[in-house]
Formats: sequence, structure tokens, C-alpha cells
Amino acid sequence: MRLDKLIETQLKTSRKQMKRLFLMGKVKIDGQVIYQENKNVDSLIHQIEIDGQAFFTNDVYYLLHKPQGVVTAKKDDLPTVFDCLKRDDYREELTAVGRLDRDTEGLLLLTSNGQLSYDLIQPKKKVDKVYEATINAEVTAQDVRAFAQGITFIGGQTCQPATLDILSASPTESQVRLTIREGKFHQVKKMFLATGKKVVYLKRVAMGPLTLGELPTGTYRALTQEELFALK
Ligand code: URA
Repeated sequence: MRLDKLIETQLKTSRKQMKRLFLMGKVKIDGQVIYQENKNVDSLIHQIEIDGQAFFTNDVYYLLHKPQGVVTAKKDDLPTVFDCLKRDDYREELTAVGRLDRDTEGLLLLTSNGQLSYDLIQPKKKVDKVYEATINAEVTAQDVRAFAQGITFIGGQTCQPATLDILSASPTESQVRLTIREGKFHQVKKMFLATGKKVVYLKRVAMGPLTLGELPTGTYRALTQEELFALK
């Protein structure tokens, strides 16, 4: 967010007061005096100091255990992930970091920090996403090798190598854990379809340093300071 807008909205200064803070060298980023009012900053990444005080943006970061049946959309005829929030916690600027299908449950980060949201879904950032899944067939060591080499979807699109762990397997059903570093549309389902198998249940249990833990379905919590810094 722009430094001048941050100061005006959060410290409720007039434009003139804000400009004076800059002119008097009272605005510092990572210990350096800054005179550029329109500089883009992120309090997750930069240490902002104004008039000798540490300054934090009022962005919010919620870790939601998305239930099945709600859609990852801002507005829809069906209930959305934002309907899981209490009215006081809802803000127009909130966005979901990536999306989960309607029938997928699990960890979904909701934040008002648009820059962070954008950064985390960039493929080059290579954020691990960990899923637990039930598959309608026997997942084999051959599948593990195919996932490690990089699956090619039925349509020809290729995926980066992924880590597949078999938790249990029988001829009619398997439980697996899958770690991927991309976020292609319906990626997990399409990866298994490419091996002739179907995902019948899907849950995201971790994303980067964030884990779902025992958070009950349909509830959410604010990220801790440690989790925020780990996301940098
Ligand atoms: N992959 C899928 O197929 N669906 C999801 O919801 C997430 C990842």
C-alpha cells in the first residue's frame, strides 16, 4: 500500500500533516529516512517507523477452515467463504488467497492485504500446498513415481513434480497426502484423472508455513505474528 495513503487513513492526518512528517524526516523504512510519499510498503516486509513509533498496517489475515458446499467467490447465489465470517470481521477489501472447489474443504487464507494475496499465488513463489485425499482406487508406487516426475493432464498441460505419499491403499479406495507447489484449476483432481483415478474427497491441510491443525470446520482464526512473519 502507498505510504502517504497509509499515514492519512490510519493516523487520520490531513494531507498537510502527512507531508510535514516526510519533510521533517519522521518517516523511516527499515531504519532509513524516506522522503518518497508514494512509496509502496508492506508492514509484513518492511519495518515502518513514524515519528519514532513502530507502525503496523490494519490489514487482517484470517485462516478459515472452509467447509464443503461453500464457494470461493466474493458474491454468488450459493453461500461463499466470506459468509463464514462474523459481520464485524467482514471487510470489502478481503480476498481469498487462491481458491478451493465447492466440494473441497480445508485451509483457506482470507486477507485484506492484496499484495500478499497476489504474491502468494505466484508460481515462482513455490508455496507448498498440502492436501489429504481419498481416491476411488488403489494408488500405487508407480503413481508416486509419476507424480514425482511431473504429471501431464489429459489435455496435455504439464505439472511440476509433486510429492505423493500413500497413507493406505486397497483395490477400491486409498488415502493419500499430496504436496504441490502450483495452483492450477482443479489441479489435484486433474492429476489423479491423468492416472485414471478419481478424487472422492479433498482437504487442504497446509499452505506454506500455515497448518489447519484442529480448527473446526466452518470456523476461522487470525494469523499469529509468527505465522505472519513466516509468510514473508
Ligand atoms: N485441486 C483441486 O482439484 N481442487 C481444489 O479445490 C484444490 C486443488
